[in-house]
Amino acid sequence: MIFHVLTVFPDFFRGPFEHGVVARAREAGVLDIRIHDLRDWTHDRHRTVDDRPFGGGEGMVLKPGPIFEAVETIWPERDRARQRAILLSAQGKRFDQRAARRLKEAGELLFICGRYEGVDERVSEHLADEELSIGDYVLSGGEPAALVVVDSVARLLPGVLGNEASSVFESFSETAAGDGILDCPHYTRPAEFRGWAVPEALREGNHAAVQEWRRRAALDKTRRHRPELLEKD
Ligand code: SAM
Repeated sequence: MIFHVLTVFPDFFRGPFEHGVVARAREAGVLDIRIHDLRDWTHDRHRTVDDRPFGGGEGMVLKPGPIFEAVETIWPERDRARQRAILLSAQGKRFDQRAARRLKEAGELLFICGRYEGVDERVSEHLADEELSIGDYVLSGGEPAALVVVDSVARLLPGVLGNEASSVFESFSETAAGDGILDCPHYTRPAEFRGWAVPEALREGNHAAVQEWRRRAALDKTRRHRPELLEKD
């Protein structure tokens, strides 16, 4: 799978995609991440990507021209079923694990990172396939959101996680093994730390008892932290 990121701050991604499972998957050729500098599609001496908003007001708006040109150069014959352009925006639909599972079916994803006051709305209306928000808060740029979405989609791809099962038994999984609730708590050694002991069921080596404890603990944690997940149909 190929991930493209269109940004005015390409260096932002220098560290994050060079560590952990995403970096290993890149090295193994399971996925490719291509960072594109939006300024490469400007035609003036100052490489201008933004302009003042119509109607007045504070802040600058990213111009549509360089963004359209970038996407049309990256995908000259775009197949919209396989090549999906995503505008990152606080006004987008909320990104979640279900959206991550849907996006992993695409062949290529291209993330448009906004900055300043945002992106000329014609990008949302006529270029992007969808507009996604990572949560109800405002970031200063789409780059951290792109990181979040790329990471969560990438780890669902076959061959990215060492143990394939580890993306099945985790929070929000909707498979035969899980039903969209939170993961259970995890413990490691020492068995007792500062007087706090690891639950007995996890230490006894009885597989059925461990499964039973994990199921109950996951439900309990979901009830305490995210009760609305138990109300979903
Ligand atoms: N004026 C915009 C608003 O109130 O919705 C905020 C613009 S924000 C300062 C600049 C850029 O950050 C946006 O164009 C978008 O790309 C990104 N951004 C901000 N919050 C985001 C969120 N919750 N999810 C995804 N991207 C976000």
